[in-house]
Amino acid sequence: MNPDVVVIGAGTAGMTAALRLSGTGATVLVLAEGEGALPLAPAQVDLLGYTPALVSEPLRELAPFLQERPWHPYRLVTPDEIEAALGWFADLAAPLGYVGSAQRNRLQPTALGALRPTCLVPETMASGDLSEGGEVLVVGLRGFRDFHAQLVAENLGQAHLASGAAVGARAVEVSLVGDPRDLRPQLLVRRLEQRAVLAQLAREIRTELGQETLIALPAVLGMERSHEVWQRLQELLGRPVFEIPTPPPSQPGQRLQQVLFRALRRQGGEVRLGAKATGFRGTGGRVESITVQLASREVQVSAGEFILASGGLGTGGVTVDPDGGLHEPVFDLPVTTAGAPGQPSAEYFATQPLDRLGVSVDSEMRPLGTGGEPLFTNLRAAGAVLGGAEPWREKSGEGISLATGFRAAAVITGGGG
Ligand SMILES: Cc1cc2nc3c(=O)[nH]c(=O)nc-3n(C[C@H](O)[C@H](O)[C@H](O)COP(=O)(O)OP(=O)(O)OC[C@H]3O[C@@H](n4cnc5c(N)ncnc54)[C@H](O)[C@@H]3O)c2cc1C
Repeated sequence: MNPDVVVIGAGTAGMTAALRLSGTGATVLVLAEGEGALPLAPAQVDLLGYTPALVSEPLRELAPFLQERPWHPYRLVTPDEIEAALGWFADLAAPLGYVGSAQRNRLQPTALGALRPTCLVPETMASGDLSEGGEVLVVGLRGFRDFHAQLVAENLGQAHLASGAAVGARAVEVSLVGDPRDLRPQLLVRRLEQRAVLAQLAREIRTELGQETLIALPAVLGMERSHEVWQRLQELLGRPVFEIPTPPPSQPGQRLQQVLFRALRRQGGEVRLGAKATGFRGTGGRVESITVQLASREVQVSAGEFILASGGLGTGGVTVDPDGGLHEPVFDLPVTTAGAPGQPSAEYFATQPLDRLGVSVDSEMRPLGTGGEPLFTNLRAAGAVLGGAEPWREKSGEGISLATGFRAAAVITGGGG
């Protein structure tokens, strides 16, 4: 394959850019060392959750947020582009039926029973928006160790909502047919796709059901057929059912990854995992090819355009030496810690020096040199490799990757800038 575009990284940012470009007819090759955050994260799209105050209208609150953080990656995209990116994503991931909008944050329960602000969720989680309170029966599965219904219910019951509404929650634990000693999520999703097992689960839940208007389960309601499993369970129980994401590995994250990978293949693109970019060759301000380490050999991959979507510290998109030196390992780009304090803070929740590290780009998403000049005409960067954000604190990780991946594709096709 001699692609028009090579994307480094198969996370949300890389897949968004790849899908947008292959959708315009470009041949796209995604090279990734590993799978990134997609199969681990909850498959919800967080745009902006905290500024640090709780955000209820993310798109509206973005402008004042950026005024205080002119280095933030959201400066690279307009509110219209963010809305377009979210709309495009929801259409593309239609098999998962995404619900929500950039205008309003929902409050969805986590595996600890906290309420988390997020914009877009798969339909299997949609009725779990507890912004206006609700009475929830939290169902645990005996033997499944990644979900503690009692903990979730106790914490949900203590939620303080701005609306003044209350959340009532009660925990129950039910048994599935089969061996409860080894209920790993990968097994559960397959087992719950069997109608007899689902019917048994519904019977068990019905015997426990009181006045609750909502039923919550860990996010293991099927893999390929999650829509069908979720809908059937609702029918059997006669009440809205919603999934609560569990700790990694995330079954909703894997559903989303499958949808994105398949969509790219359908459009003629390719994802190659186990392919680590280790360097590049270039002349005259252009990248000609990248050096890629495969299982048994090293190859040069040429393309007209390159997109760096290699993630942050967690995936090796940026690295830190033992002596504190910061690196971007593929193109040796300067790494900055925009707006972060110079010295570590002893306060646990304070912003630390490395919290915002990443590469800087211009409005065309081209990585910048130390003098502030774009280094290559045909290299763009997107997602968590960009510096300036604190995704965990802001609840902005997926939104940044989606919006900047979308933008990187737009500047290549001439639709942005
Ligand atoms: C468990 C978990 C839970 C999360 N929960 C939330 C949440 O609730 N809210 C939120 O906003 N964010 C959350 N995040 C963060 C969010 O998921 C990430 O910010 C976002 O997905 C990053 O996407 P990305 O595409 O930029 O990078 P990644 O998903 O990290 O992908 C990077 C890709 O680049 C590849 N790569 C790296 N270096 C190379 C190389 N040299 N050669 C080839 N490939 C390379 C990696 O293998 C990977 O495929 C969570 C993340 C995790 C892991």
